[in-house]
Amino acid sequence: MSALDQFRAETRAWLEANCPASMRTPMPEDERVWGGRNARFSNPDSKLWLARMVERGWTVPGWPKAYGGGGLSRDELQVLKEEMNRLGCRSPLFSFGISMLGPVLLKYGTEEQKQEHLPRIARGEIRWCQGYSEPGAGSDLAALATRAEDQGDHYLVNGQKIWTSYANYADWIFCLVRTDTSTKQAGISFLLFDMRSEGVETRPITLISGASVFCETFLTNVRVPKGNLVGRLNGGWEIAKELLQHERGMISDIGKSIGGIVPDVDVVAKKYLGDADGRISDPVLRDAVARHVMDDRAFGLTMRRAAQESEAGTANGGVSSMFKLFGTEQNKRKFELILKCAGTDALGWEGAPFSEEALTLCRTWLRSKGNSIEGGTSEIQLNVIAKRVLGLPD
Ligand SMILES: Cc1cc2nc3c(=O)[nH]c(=O)nc-3n(C[C@H](O)[C@H](O)[C@H](O)COP(=O)(O)OP(=O)(O)OC[C@H]3O[C@@H](n4cnc5c(N)ncnc54)[C@H](O)[C@@H]3O)c2cc1C
Repeated sequence: MSALDQFRAETRAWLEANCPASMRTPMPEDERVWGGRNARFSNPDSKLWLARMVERGWTVPGWPKAYGGGGLSRDELQVLKEEMNRLGCRSPLFSFGISMLGPVLLKYGTEEQKQEHLPRIARGEIRWCQGYSEPGAGSDLAALATRAEDQGDHYLVNGQKIWTSYANYADWIFCLVRTDTSTKQAGISFLLFDMRSEGVETRPITLISGASVFCETFLTNVRVPKGNLVGRLNGGWEIAKELLQHERGMISDIGKSIGGIVPDVDVVAKKYLGDADGRISDPVLRDAVARHVMDDRAFGLTMRRAAQESEAGTANGGVSSMFKLFGTEQNKRKFELILKCAGTDALGWEGAPFSEEALTLCRTWLRSKGNSIEGGTSEIQLNVIAKRVLGLPD
């Protein structure tokens, strides 16, 4: 038996013995675990599941063991993913720390910063939010104006961020600040600070889906210790761009991560339109659903190939933009298709006569509209692809 086969057998046995039965079912939105100082576990099994995965380092299986990770190789990671999928195991922890901050801290953080933050991210103890966008700096992110002034032993931060997802629940923020006003990209630094610091105020904004998870964030004379600067002073743009690649990778996979909340398109189609011998009865929609599923599969395989290329060092630097563009547009197409299948049943806002599922379809459809905006809009991804992948002039 090869070492990888051995790893698969052990992983399978461990998951079967340790993943609680209720963690092997599709996940309702309110059972997602985000961790943090005020972590909520609406299903007690999710607490147990998180603790068991933390112990193995499998909330961040690819990170080094020294920082709370599992130290797995790329092949082992793939095996773990396949075995978790096979059993239908839920992801134990959703975290901007894992998907965005962690990878750049591993690369740019000092040893002290890594020791302070990475194990806490791995254990789900600190919940992070992202302070990038400002009222005058969205697509043109480098136009940001929030200032951090050198006050000797600390920086004094003043300014406003906007669209800060979950700022009202987050414990810490990774934040872009201006430390030099005489230049644009080269005057930006990357700071970390506690959201309980004096001078931090968050005001939630309601999304079209009715949820109120992203905020205006006001920063007034916030004192940030100098040790919280990641990378070089005025060297934050490089880190910011790299973090965006991780964010785009995560968002492009968004269709899969909400798979637990919303049934697959073909399931919705059969349920609302009926089927004849297992085939969706409306031939036009059947065709559209089949095409959608094929595109999904092709996309999944392409992402896998890109991961292998990345491992082999032959990756194309533009893939995160290509995947962000395709993945989020595909996710929006998915919900348009679901709406076509479910018809007016999926247009309920609240209460009777709509089922819980129908209400979820409607709200998730509305939320999907933001997928092609957050993390950089589709138009911006097209610009990046035109410039960096195709080499077209500005
Ligand atoms: C659900 C959601 C969650 C978010 N969460 C966060 C978060 O946690 N933290 C954070 O910092 N930010 C967050 N954002 C902000 C997001 O990154 C910005 O909304 C996004 O970068 C677009 O910036 P903007 O809103 O200022 O739009 P603008 O830049 O004003 O763009 C408006 C329109 O003009 C187009 N446009 C602009 N410039 C160009 C160009 N050069 N070429 C072609 N078209 C162009 C855009 O594509 C868009 O259609 C979130 C946004 C959403 C919707």
